[in-house]
Amino acid sequence: MAMRIDGKRISQQIKDELKEEVAALGEQGVKVCLAVIQVGNDPASTVYVGNKKKACAYVGIESLAYELPEETTEEELLNLVRELNKKDEVNGILVQLPLPDHIDEDKVIRTIAPEKDVDGFHPQSVGALSIGQKGFVSCTPAGIIQLLKRSDIAIDGKECVIVGRSNIVGKPMALLLLRENGTVTVCHSHTPDLKAVTRRADILVVAVGKAKMIDADYVREGAVVIDVGMDRDENGKLCGDVDFASVEPKASAITPVPGGVGPMTIAMLMHNCVESAKQNI
Ligand code: NAP
Repeated sequence: MAMRIDGKRISQQIKDELKEEVAALGEQGVKVCLAVIQVGNDPASTVYVGNKKKACAYVGIESLAYELPEETTEEELLNLVRELNKKDEVNGILVQLPLPDHIDEDKVIRTIAPEKDVDGFHPQSVGALSIGQKGFVSCTPAGIIQLLKRSDIAIDGKECVIVGRSNIVGKPMALLLLRENGTVTVCHSHTPDLKAVTRRADILVVAVGKAKMIDADYVREGAVVIDVGMDRDENGKLCGDVDFASVEPKASAITPVPGGVGPMTIAMLMHNCVESAKQNI
């Protein structure tokens, strides 16, 4: 039976470490502040934003909430971002995605000052990651690296296979695993024989967005399986991209959904906010 990688426990550990760090920064007169912008009232976004505010409160980070109506124009949103870029007291700016269709997401992301880009989505942050320079890293893949390291799972020299090549998960995941000296393969919807590739993996990261797509057939005996998916099964219950019941007996370690990768994303967002505040010391 596989070891269950407990994202809830590890994310709590990270938040507790950050809480101490924020308190110590406070004693030096350094405050940490995150501005969170939501446009419209998509229910899932409201839940995510609420969770981010809760995590900020726990860690001791001040959060400024900007809840803008659905009909906010692109220019209005860009102006708010520009204004926040200039505010010294704001260390991080997060624009909750997705944005309404009339707003160009890429343009908004490009307008966030890279030194406040705590989501790590700005092209400069992504570029810095790809050439090994300093910059914010997308929170979900950064959280996966923490899950592996804090579970004593070695990456160096391992065969790492990622299923999915999105800008927020698959691609930065590949770069991070490469940085940790993994041998990395990225699969996508045009990969002809997916099983043949995933079966090579010592560490298999799955981010496809398809409920329970990866079953035991895709997994090598003893592999570490990281499930990024947040999907709904046939009964509307939250599940991952990995068929947990089928894969768990074959894997050496596995993340559950919920309670695996999910909680790490917010913990790493908090981490990025604290790092941002430390730039100003
Ligand atoms: P996405 O942008 O939709 O990307 C999905 C990727 O999977 C694409 O690269 C796609 O290939 C690939 N793919 C789709 N079907 C495939 C197939 N049959 N075989 C091989 N590859 C296939 O998704 P995402 O934003 O990366 O998210 C993936 C999942 O992670 C979703 O369930 C999402 O909800 C979840 N997620 C969770 C967190 C968290 O905090 N836990 C954060 C982000 C995302 P192409 O590029 O060829 O189309």
